[in-house]
Amino acid sequence: MTARIRPDLDSIPAYTPGRSNPGAVKLASNETTLGPLPTVVKAIAEAAETANRYPDNMASELRAAVAAFHGVEVANVAVGCGSVALCQELVQITCAAPTDEVLFAWRSFEAYPIVTQVGNARAIQVPLTEGYAHDFEAMAAAITERTKLIFVCNPNNPTGTAYGRAELERFLDAVADHILVVLDEAYYEYLRVDDHPDGVEIGRTRPNVLVLRTFSKAYGLAGLRVGYAVGDPEVITALLKVHIPFSVNRLAQAAAIASLEARHELLDRTDHVVAERDRMRTALIAAGYTVPPSEANFLWLPLGERSADFGEASASAGVLVRPYGIDGVRVTAGDPHENDLFLAFATDPDVLARFLG
Ligand code: PMP
Repeated sequence: MTARIRPDLDSIPAYTPGRSNPGAVKLASNETTLGPLPTVVKAIAEAAETANRYPDNMASELRAAVAAFHGVEVANVAVGCGSVALCQELVQITCAAPTDEVLFAWRSFEAYPIVTQVGNARAIQVPLTEGYAHDFEAMAAAITERTKLIFVCNPNNPTGTAYGRAELERFLDAVADHILVVLDEAYYEYLRVDDHPDGVEIGRTRPNVLVLRTFSKAYGLAGLRVGYAVGDPEVITALLKVHIPFSVNRLAQAAAIASLEARHELLDRTDHVVAERDRMRTALIAAGYTVPPSEANFLWLPLGERSADFGEASASAGVLVRPYGIDGVRVTAGDPHENDLFLAFATDPDVLARFLG
């Protein structure tokens, strides 16, 4: 007899590894193309020498480095095995009953509905506007007395759209202060609009606001799994209670500290990515695609029913991109030659006829 598993998990698709296509260019996971800096590699190697010892479960040194970087207290900082682990832990600390609601825009980060269901809570998904952006009015209207947690992603994954500070503040004013609002800023470093909100700053005066950042994107440590939350000490203390012990490993902690030290060099790299993102968008629009403005390191092509076929065709042309159901396809900005390969595929007259015709 097989063990009985929670039946509701049947509705979560089993994990299917991304298609392996040796030699293909990968523009599917919003990673950076450049590896860690030599100083970061050195820190990782040194940490590996003591891999027989458990890591610091409180990640004291890393949390102190993050706190110093943001000008907050260590008590305001939690770290996680990627910020996705913190997303799951945030559901765990706010939701206790199956009727408890987690509210977020849709489409947004695909982990939100999964961590909500795993946490035994109810996902309330509010459709994006026609411009693929957060519909804050509709989100405010969807709040009920059962709402426990709200995820707001800026820039939004997978559409790349960003909201301004005033717009967000208006929404936050409409949210009761017993509801935790999580500003997921995984792509913060790629924002170039002037009036973008900084979740850490907003959280200073709003204790129900917590911000998530990650070392996976601009800092280039996706393979090591480390992200962090900055928020009110009471929320941070709760996060520490549900944290899987030792889940931020020794190498990840050392690499994150070294990356923060080298942040100027790492953040300079984002300018190249932003330039490529904008170049790709211009070329795609010129070819006839609809591409919402992106403030992240990726672009969104709302291709509807044709999304999956577009993803297959792109993979056959040697470029892996990320189709999302019948909504669209997300394309990460990679190195110029990788992006050129994608653009050559996407602007090929046969491809245009097939997918835009
Ligand atoms: N939030 C958003 C919006 C993301 O896109 C991602 C990664 N795809 C994450 C959080 C999680 O990143 P990580 O777990 O690597 O920190």
